[in-house]
Amino acid sequence: MNKVLLGSTGLSVNRLVFGTLPLGPLQANLSATAGGALIRHALESGVTLLDTAELYGTYPHIREALRGFSGEVRIASKTHATTAAEARGHVVKALQELAIERLDIVHIHGARLADPCRERAAVLEELLLMKQEGKIGHLGISSHYIAAFREAARHPEIEVVHPLINRIGMGIMDGSAAEMAEAIACCSESGKGVYAMKALAGGNLISEARASIRYVLGLPGVDALALGMLSREEIDANLKLCSLDEAHDEAWGILEKRRRTFKIMEKFCNGCGDCIDACIAQALVLEAGVARVKEEECILCGYCAAACPDFLIRVV
Ligand code: SF4
Ligand code: SF4
Repeated sequence: MNKVLLGSTGLSVNRLVFGTLPLGPLQANLSATAGGALIRHALESGVTLLDTAELYGTYPHIREALRGFSGEVRIASKTHATTAAEARGHVVKALQELAIERLDIVHIHGARLADPCRERAAVLEELLLMKQEGKIGHLGISSHYIAAFREAARHPEIEVVHPLINRIGMGIMDGSAAEMAEAIACCSESGKGVYAMKALAGGNLISEARASIRYVLGLPGVDALALGMLSREEIDANLKLCSLDEAHDEAWGILEKRRRTFKIMEKFCNGCGDCIDACIAQALVLEAGVARVKEEECILCGYCAAACPDFLIRVV
């Protein structure tokens, strides 16, 4: 399998990164055994970087996948902490739950932050300290803001970036896909490793998955791409597409016809109502401060998913 260097980090990774979010309690809620088996299949097939976060609840799945595995594996996690103490707590918890001594990458998890370096300055400082202590390999940021990556390009301590980008620009908070692509290229030119997210726009681009994945991987500066995967068939097809640019029509014909379902991560909904305003079918309501769908009215158009600033709605 082809591997690429992740910027100037010295890390060499497969272009397909396993995004573990969909395995966990926020989405498919697979058991650690079932989710771990999928991750293990990916690792044994050539995936080398696993992407997780404090919020995802997938450390048990990863730990299960790593049990007895002697091959190459890197782990990236994220902290949404707002204080230094909380950030340290998140990293320590990850190390304990994963039974490892060092996280290869820790991102400031800043989907809604236009400038994570300034808005979470204390967190960044603490993570740098933990890097010196040997608990973290490289620091990064994940964000849905173009501004965050323009800023990150100027920060040498940020070595990896995890930007949201897809063909239609869905979910980008402050501009277009073309503008995000420019910011990504800028980060890459300043030596940062780039692995992208949301190439399928939270599931909304499944019917055009091959073209959507190729679009992101073809952008200047994009080293790799994190994709959530819930079956061996998806893993195998994505690996061939990302690593070898091979796409067998039969397998993709099935994958691109998957039935889509609607899901709101209610636990994190702040009741802002943006999704309700965006729904043309009036299929969403606020109940007890949380958005809920009236399934009989929902036409799975995905407009609400684009409107949610926290990407809490998925049509997959
Ligand atoms: S998918 Fe479309 S119809 Fe369904 S709740 Fe969202 S905006 Fe409304
Ligand atoms: S847009 Fe997102 S956060 Fe706001 S009410 Fe809808 S689901 Fe909740």
